[in-house]
Amino acid sequence: MAAYERVDERRDLRPGLGAQVPPIVRQNLLNLDQRGCEGLAQTLGCKPFHGRNLFKWIHKHGVDDFDAMTDLPKAFRARLAAEASIPRLPVAAEKPSADGTVKWLLELPDGQRVETVFIPEERRTTLCVSSQVGCALDCAFCATARQGFNRNLSAGEIIAQVRHAVQRIGRAPSNIVLMGMGEPLANFDAVVTATDVMRDDLAYMLSKYRVTLSTSGIVPNIYRLAEVSDVALAVSLHAPDNALRDELVPINRKYPLEELIPACRAYLRGDTRRRITWEYVMLDGVNDSIAHAKALIRLLEGTPSKVNLIPFNPFPGSGFETSPPERVDAFRQRLLRAGLVATTRKTRGDEIAAACGQLVGRVQDRRRRVPAMSQAVALRP
Ligand code: SAH
Repeated sequence: MAAYERVDERRDLRPGLGAQVPPIVRQNLLNLDQRGCEGLAQTLGCKPFHGRNLFKWIHKHGVDDFDAMTDLPKAFRARLAAEASIPRLPVAAEKPSADGTVKWLLELPDGQRVETVFIPEERRTTLCVSSQVGCALDCAFCATARQGFNRNLSAGEIIAQVRHAVQRIGRAPSNIVLMGMGEPLANFDAVVTATDVMRDDLAYMLSKYRVTLSTSGIVPNIYRLAEVSDVALAVSLHAPDNALRDELVPINRKYPLEELIPACRAYLRGDTRRRITWEYVMLDGVNDSIAHAKALIRLLEGTPSKVNLIPFNPFPGSGFETSPPERVDAFRQRLLRAGLVATTRKTRGDEIAAACGQLVGRVQDRRRRVPAMSQAVALRP
């Protein structure tokens, strides 16, 4: 279903007739992974390698014009030009920050908007992409949660964010994190297809260590992910016990820590080179004491872990304050003393509201705000 997108082209070409003429349905080629492109080529009477070449033109070479895909048979190109599209997402706003971070607000075909953030660092460049318009999970300290949930992005809409960034920056980022708007594991199929394309050697060539999916902890889908993918996993933990996590990350009421931790351990499949990244937002007076640090150490015992402390990025009306830097440091030192790998995330792009939890696109119908456990979270056991 997600492979098709309505393009209402005739309305412009035939003014006055728009209402009677059904829109042309073009296939959005960005929804296809390499195998999907091979299948499409075969359906149109070509060889699988023509499909691979098409995939390479789209992603490795960033070409949109079928005529420029010179090693594809002419008839194949003509069919694609008539029936398919490689859509770009128009930029509704571009906000560069003094630290080099750039935030783009990209517009989807139905007028929804999502945010994508590019973060250059000394030795790597990271692209932070969105997986949904808004989010249904309602984490207490997250700005995206405040805007409610509207819809999942298609795989093509996730990949279009990557293509956009590559085009603007002139090269592929070294790392991609699914830490923008939305809960990636509530949009499972599209996210898996998109991460496959990110990793593909004929596309963006990122290794499994350089594509990170961040989840609030939808346990059944962590197990499902282990069956089909091996991208790096980051988990939004934020609290070392169920009572506090129930408040901060409400999905914990459905999938508590005693289910989450074993699921994450299982995800690593005993591969000693891998570990789970635990995200822990430092909220003043809420989860940042030494007692919390000790409880966290106990919780993570036996799980290959890296703890990433995130200074809380404030937004109006959040009701939370950022922990003072000394407290963040004391917390981190306590984790280090226990032998845990622990880092403090540098806040980037906060003056353009591009930092963690500050991403707010435009959800068209705010009445569609739905609670965490509703149908918006597509769960399959
Ligand atoms: N839904 C996914 C990915 C989204 S956000 C998830 O929950 O993991 C990426 C990280 O930023 C998450 O760990 C999230 O909890 C954190 N975050 C959200 N709001 C924040 C804020 N205001 N300040 C700092 N980090 C925040």
